Amino acid sequence: MSGRWLLLTGGGRGIGAVIARRAAEAGWSIALWDLDADRARAVVESLHAPTHVSQVDVTDEESVLAALKELPTTPHALVNNAGAVRFGRLLDVSVQDFEHAIRTNLIGSFIVGRTVARAMQRRGSGTIVNIASINGVAAAPRSGGYSSSKAGLIMLTQQMALEFAPFGLRVNAVAPGLIAAGMSEQIYADEEVRQLRSALVPLKRLGTADDVADALLFLISDAASYITGQTIVVDGGITAAILDGLPRPPEVDGRRE
Ligand code: NDP
Repeated sequence: MSGRWLLLTGGGRGIGAVIARRAAEAGWSIALWDLDADRARAVVESLHAPTHVSQVDVTDEESVLAALKELPTTPHALVNNAGAVRFGRLLDVSVQDFEHAIRTNLIGSFIVGRTVARAMQRRGSGTIVNIASINGVAAAPRSGGYSSSKAGLIMLTQQMALEFAPFGLRVNAVAPGLIAAGMSEQIYADEEVRQLRSALVPLKRLGTADDVADALLFLISDAASYITGQTIVVDGGITAAILDGLPRPPEVDGRRE
């Protein structure tokens, strides 16, 4: 593993900071791109691995191109993790707020993804993981442009997988569910909401940033060398539970009681 670099966007806090720690523990060297370089530096300070930090806005192609040139080497793995949400009903949300989610989550991943893929193409190998969301699989009301941006990211993952496969790149996504970390910390600070949401998950607990990191580390590993274009949903079963609880008459159900 030594000498393999993982480039992670939005790694200055939340899920990204945990991914950075877990990937370093797994032997990866870590490059972090975040809007706030000081925050990213604070994350890498505690890592026992070669690291590199740049201040980057993933929605700004110039910023991304400049940061790529500063990297010690072409990364072997890229994780498009930078993300943003601005909640709101479609009837009320401002165009700017809707666009902010699309720009950060979808266009930012496109810009960073294809910029890094060009460099990986020259080397002839690499892997990309986009951090999507269950909001890209099932619509979440009052989520502004977030659900649309993440649904788009899942399709971008498939398109990248097809276009980049001929030069040896794999591209997959992880779609986290109800994760008690990062941008959702505020939601789960409310104990009642926390309990109500946990009860809705078939596995009866909220997810953690480590759950996301576990799936991601598998996808960027050689154990996933035949997997591309896929989205692994890490949600304790909540998106599979759509038909759970639908009543049937006992005689149809085969129930005796
Ligand atoms: P956080 O808000 O805690 O972290 C996101 C990081 O991305 C922040 O450091 C943020 O900087 C940075 N960022 C935002 N915009 C840009 C940009 N334009 N350029 C560079 N960096 C940027 O979020 P999470 O850790 O919770 O989320 C990580 C990923 O996981 C996101 O893609 C999110 O959508 C996804 N996700 C999260 C879930 C959750 O419940 N936490 C559930 C499902 C998916 P700043 O703080 O300055 O904006």
